Amino acid sequence: MMTDATPQPGTPARERELSPAKTREAATVRRFIEVYCHKHHRTRGRTLCPECDELAAYALRRLTHCPFEPKPKCKECKVHCYQSPFREKIREVMKFSGMHFARRGRIDWLIKYFLG
Ligand SMILES: [Zn+2]
Repeated sequence: MMTDATPQPGTPARERELSPAKTREAATVRRFIEVYCHKHHRTRGRTLCPECDELAAYALRRLTHCPFEPKPKCKECKVHCYQSPFREKIREVMKFSGMHFARRGRIDWLIKYFLG
């Protein structure tokens, strides 16, 4: 069985390779989703429930297809590429996990990118 990490055949290389900034953002978004999923769906470590795993895959796809370099903050971007219901879900995740990190003094994290 193929995993999400496997490059899809036929995908142009430039769409597969994220810039360092986008790679960092992808890792951060994944971290936010993990925190949310652990608290709401009782998962652990790098494991996500199927619903959050789908959201994480979607977020990574959006980042991979983001045409801007450097990428603007999502709330300042004209495209708003997240479609419902992912848009509502990612905002919920960012809000929850943003509070989680804020309580730990990590307010500098990505919450500002997603809360418009
Ligand atoms: Zn979950």
